[in-house]
Amino acid sequence: MPEMPPATGSAQGIRWDLRALFLSYNDPQIASCLDHCRKRAEGFARFRNALAVPGGPSPKTLVEALQELERIEETLSRVASYSSLLYAADSLKAEHQDLEQKIEQRVTDIRNLLLFFELEWLELDESTAVNLVQQPVLKPYRHYLTSLRRFRPHRLSEAEERLVNEKDNTGRNAFGRLFSEITSALTFTLERDGRREELNLSQILSLLHEPERELRRRAMDTLYHELSRHGQVMAFIYDNLIQDHLTMDRLRHYPGPMTQRHLSNEIDPTTVNTMMEITETNYRIAQEYFGVKARLLRLPRLALYDQYAPVAKESGTFSYDRARQMILEAFAAFSPVFSDLAAEFFTRKWIDAEIRKGKNGGAFCASPSPQLHPYILCNYTDNLRDVMTVAHELGHGVHGCLSRKQTFLNYDTPLTIAETASVFGEMLVFDYLAERQTEAQIQIALLASKIEDIFATVFRQNVLTRFEQSAFSARKKTRLTPDHLGSLWLEANGKLYRDAVEIPDNYRWGWSYIPHFIHTRFYCYSYVFGQLLVLSLYRMYRETGKSFVPTYLALLEAGGSDSPEALLKPLDVDIHDAQFWQKGFDELDGLVKRFNDLVNKG
Ligand SMILES: [Zn+2]
Repeated sequence: MPEMPPATGSAQGIRWDLRALFLSYNDPQIASCLDHCRKRAEGFARFRNALAVPGGPSPKTLVEALQELERIEETLSRVASYSSLLYAADSLKAEHQDLEQKIEQRVTDIRNLLLFFELEWLELDESTAVNLVQQPVLKPYRHYLTSLRRFRPHRLSEAEERLVNEKDNTGRNAFGRLFSEITSALTFTLERDGRREELNLSQILSLLHEPERELRRRAMDTLYHELSRHGQVMAFIYDNLIQDHLTMDRLRHYPGPMTQRHLSNEIDPTTVNTMMEITETNYRIAQEYFGVKARLLRLPRLALYDQYAPVAKESGTFSYDRARQMILEAFAAFSPVFSDLAAEFFTRKWIDAEIRKGKNGGAFCASPSPQLHPYILCNYTDNLRDVMTVAHELGHGVHGCLSRKQTFLNYDTPLTIAETASVFGEMLVFDYLAERQTEAQIQIALLASKIEDIFATVFRQNVLTRFEQSAFSARKKTRLTPDHLGSLWLEANGKLYRDAVEIPDNYRWGWSYIPHFIHTRFYCYSYVFGQLLVLSLYRMYRETGKSFVPTYLALLEAGGSDSPEALLKPLDVDIHDAQFWQKGFDELDGLVKRFNDLVNKG
């Protein structure tokens, strides 16, 4: 394999310090932690048949069991998070692959010992269950217990659930690992300034934002050409995962492929449909914008590789240090609670920002449990977009810190709200920058990057979800080939781009590197939800000022202790109302108008 050029960029050397978790992949503490968990999990058997007694268990027994469950899960999440963070930081290292696999097996083995508890809870008759969760001592677990019961019609027997868990490690989880290993190892060869460069996925994607048109064209061409070489394997992986999903839907009696996701998101399908349809009626905003952008770039029409072209004199490069300073100042203007928490991520080395071979592309924030702080991974390449990515992940990070007030079972935020703090964080940084720029050119550049970013989180994610839906319904009829997937992909994208953007034929490989399709199916509509929600919340903040801050902080502190609907109630948000979603698009429309006005003036 050709060597990567020495990595450059201001984030060089910025690596996270995982020693608060374990010292290294062969730290003996890992094994003793797992042994300890295993022992406690065996001891947990004392609660077997404790729920299935006439009249149900005593509230005290139930609380005891839940607290023990939380303690075991806390410890497990420390081990599992450590191994997945190591793996994300360098998935090519054999030791990391081994550890990840070993941990996966042991965690499954331990969780299998705990399984009976959930199943016994689901077996309780409705009136006993309802009566129990009303008991004051169970108040902290009311939402958890109630929401578990939504899965009641879909659970299998204990023996079957165990079997599924064990087989998944060499089944769908293994396909997921294969996908990660292939995409982390992807190398794109590009001739640039007379030099041959070997780039990874993040690096080649970032070239689509370069000012030179020919470079963007070649980067996109190289990207899809290289992806096409792995197309057969990627299609095979995706086809299998869809079939696996459909099989499980049948065995678990889910009426549709999205049902399970809706249930865990605690959202009804009608709300999601409304949101997605309204998003489609607003695709015209994107088409309008692409028209203005083409004029600005003096092109008759945008080609796909012009989509992210800088529109004005570059807003410059942003060193990692400068990004930190801007983000912290922007967060501080909103609330010192935000900036103080975010500052810790930098000072205490909770961020891995440099570009390295073998490191996962993209960015994420992992919030393992209330006992641990979150960690952030990103690939920082010194541009404005990366500043926004760091702001995004720090939003997650602050959210993850604030909800540490919750216990383990109430910690994880439902997906639909999980993107709130992150997107809000980006808005804060955008406003901070926009206020400080007086030059029209830079204003245009900033607005364009904000608008394109919102397009990427709203329109693109809607397209991704439509593509997934079409792939799932096609798979019910026939096995999916690369060709078929490519056509479905082009079709879903065609509705967004219409005639406003010229689409190259090799864009048919655009589906093949998207991790959500593999690891978290039907995740993407949560981004649409989160972005539109934030556009509305941000408007509220602008209108009401500081009085908004405490209600908003309370939302983040609440973690996953209630349903999205209930959590959003204090903010006066009604997600069932079509008008609510349209309001988000009105905000976006306003941004595009502002952009258009600036362009016409210039
Ligand atoms: Zn996010």
